[in-house]
Amino acid sequence: MDRILEVNDLHVHFSTYGGTVQAVRGVSFHLNRGETLAIVGESGCGKSVTSNAIMGLIPSPSGKIVNGSILFKGEDLTKFPEKKMRTIRGVDISMIFQDPMTALNPTLTIGTQLMEGLIQHKKVSAKEAEKRAIEMMELVGIPNPKERLKHYPHQFSGGMRQRIVIAIALICEPELLIADEPTTALDVTIQAQILELFGEIQEKTGVSIILITHDLGVVAKIADRIAVMYAGKIIETGTKRDIFYRPQHPYTKGLLHSVPRLDERGELEPIDGTPPDLFSPPIGCPFTARCPLAMEVCNKVYPATSSLSETHQVNCWLQDERAKQLLAAAASK
Ligand code: SF4
Ligand code: MG
Repeated sequence: MDRILEVNDLHVHFSTYGGTVQAVRGVSFHLNRGETLAIVGESGCGKSVTSNAIMGLIPSPSGKIVNGSILFKGEDLTKFPEKKMRTIRGVDISMIFQDPMTALNPTLTIGTQLMEGLIQHKKVSAKEAEKRAIEMMELVGIPNPKERLKHYPHQFSGGMRQRIVIAIALICEPELLIADEPTTALDVTIQAQILELFGEIQEKTGVSIILITHDLGVVAKIADRIAVMYAGKIIETGTKRDIFYRPQHPYTKGLLHSVPRLDERGELEPIDGTPPDLFSPPIGCPFTARCPLAMEVCNKVYPATSSLSETHQVNCWLQDERAKQLLAAAASK
């Protein structure tokens, strides 16, 4: 399958007065063209930092990609100077954030904001830009688009504003869309409509999507594959079915505890304990302190990636043959 994005061994650090935070610690994943990958985990697990790294939005000098590569259509974005990233952001790769109000400029009409990127990056005429803007408004389901272009953000409801944000993100026809908690600020009915919209847009445009979320209900609706993050690492990856029906990592199982079925909504259920301090992360499995099944080896050595199938990978000693042999040897003594 054609991979549009491949992230390899990404490490992102932030320097603070208290020391260095190792926010992302060796993250690798890929995204196939036209699919939706959800990156899930609790707040502070490194999922937003990962997406910001792809966008070239790690704030310098406090933040730094210290290792790894981010291949977008085969080219390493971590090697691109900021000037080149600016020609890619919003054009080849677009991002949607949680709060539609802060993403829009309250002093400019929706039409101006929609057309801005097109005129700037694609060098189209004002007339052509307006035509495209109207088409985009139609694509995201805003009635009377020609009229509505003249309106300001406050003249739209929260759900409509998020549709407009999505239209702006898509107007330059990006190949990759990153949506960071895109429905968290919206009420439940509107959330469902926006999620449906993502599906429709993907069908019509073929855009590849990375969805960052802590909400498994959202994931169940639109993801093809899921990567579960914990303490700066991806600890389990699989198709939606792998993760919902055959989760293997004790952390993934804990997250899913409150979601009995794939088609039900559910927030991530809190698991006892807290994630480790990323100023000095543990060398072994970061879930050891909270894991009901932790073994001696877990604390000492980080578990390698075990492939359970072509689509399903996990980092847990319980799935590692070598740990099973050690356990069996210990039991037989
Ligand atoms: Fe639990 Fe050990 Fe697996 Fe970590 S590696 S999740 S501590 S069993
Ligand atoms: Mg976040």
